Amino acid sequence: MDYEAVIGLEVHCQLQTFTKIFCGCSAQFGASPNTHVCPVCLGMPGVLPVLNRQVVEYAMRMALAVNCTINPMNRFARKHYFYPDLPKGYQISQYELPLAEHGWVDVEIDGKTRRIGITRIHMEEDAGKLIHSATQPTSFVDLNRAGVPLIEIVSEPDIRSPEEAALYLKKIRELVRYLGISDGNMDEGSLRCDANISMRPVGEQRFGVKSELKNMNSFRHVQKALEYEIRRQTALLLDGKDVVQETRLWDPAKGVTISMRGKEEAHDYRYFPEPDLPPLQITVEWLEDVRASLPELPDVKKERFAQQYGIPVYDAGVLTASRELADYFEEAVRIFPQPKTVSNWIMVELLRLLKADDREIQDCPVTPQGLAGLLKMLETGVISGKMAKDVLEQAYREAKDPVELVKAQGLSQVTDESILRDAVKKVIQANPSEVEKYRAGKTNVLAFFVGQVMKETRGKANPKTVNELLREMLAS
Ligand code: ADP
Ligand code: ZN
Ligand code: MG
Repeated sequence: MDYEAVIGLEVHCQLQTFTKIFCGCSAQFGASPNTHVCPVCLGMPGVLPVLNRQVVEYAMRMALAVNCTINPMNRFARKHYFYPDLPKGYQISQYELPLAEHGWVDVEIDGKTRRIGITRIHMEEDAGKLIHSATQPTSFVDLNRAGVPLIEIVSEPDIRSPEEAALYLKKIRELVRYLGISDGNMDEGSLRCDANISMRPVGEQRFGVKSELKNMNSFRHVQKALEYEIRRQTALLLDGKDVVQETRLWDPAKGVTISMRGKEEAHDYRYFPEPDLPPLQITVEWLEDVRASLPELPDVKKERFAQQYGIPVYDAGVLTASRELADYFEEAVRIFPQPKTVSNWIMVELLRLLKADDREIQDCPVTPQGLAGLLKMLETGVISGKMAKDVLEQAYREAKDPVELVKAQGLSQVTDESILRDAVKKVIQANPSEVEKYRAGKTNVLAFFVGQVMKETRGKANPKTVNELLREMLAS
């Protein structure tokens, strides 16, 4: 029997606000332990939370970007559980009336568009962090992260393969970065993903029993963990055994998932409305203000790039993968209005250099002005294609302007006919037997002559001019 996977993701995303969600403490990452704390986020008795308006606006941006309906009335709820990194003994989250529901995102897989439903997006506070000592049987608690704002984005069980799950997750990361609401770094924990997965016979409408996978801090791990889980669950089902509903932990070193605990149910958390926060009302005016502040989103930008610049959809997709890359392209094209050429040079040369250094476009030492200048020199024949590649690489390594580099090193290609004429003459005189061959009809020795002239001019001759001169002078 053939089985298919049914996958739904729960993604937590840390919002990059200045302050925490319910107090004025800094939400910045990386401070020394327990320095960003106050009575509110330490859960002291008698204190009251105050909602951070920026958190709501950031969450609304995401909700709008994934086509959700925003609830005009929101409620916060207490979610109870005990853990040393949770000082209040409950997390303030949203339960019955979340910020937003019923959205979707499209992902592209094998040239087809798949629409993944978004069940809900809600706001909540993060917990602190436990640090386990490597040398003593002791753990430490850092509460800097307690109260840092999160949104949780819950997908419908619409995902059908590990690859699709990774694409969906990448799309979420692309969006939060475009919106400027999170850095979306999975390895630093600003984007965290729990993956729910079950198997069912192909053609079956009902869902099977799922397991929930945790502890995957990269796209690759999400994909690997799901692949492993598909094998594990399928083997159980083929054996006539049952999949147990449980939470499992991905072990990246062993490449397996291991059982962590039985799945908790909503009633285990004893959710109830947060009595210290009034219901949150989102007016139409507020919503429209936030909508008006949204940047152009990746899908729209991609389509516009293909249309406006006449570049292939594939190029448009690569160039709009981040807002910064898209801006870089547009700035370069503004100065050097040949979109396909600019696109080629960014995609082939620049992205290769950046990838090798694990750098993003925002850290690229060559500016869009620099790239445009380089392409102008290439177009006007000041430098050859080969030279352009070398100059770009040198400009990148030394963080210099390509035009300045060419000037400083006297690299410009020689197109001056009188200089080239001399070089061609010299080469013709030095190779009488080759000249004879040429004149006898063996025109393929032309390449030999071109090579000799290039050698003579130390690679600086404009090959097109050399070709023309050779043909002319060899004929006479
Ligand atoms: P729970 O009640 O166990 O928390 P939810 O219905 O809230 O489950 O769903 C949590 C996540 O699990 C969602 O992303 C949802 O799409 C996904 N999910 C729900 N049922 C299944 C299933 N049978 N197989 C795979 N994923 C599922
Ligand atoms: Zn605080
Ligand atoms: Mg649930």
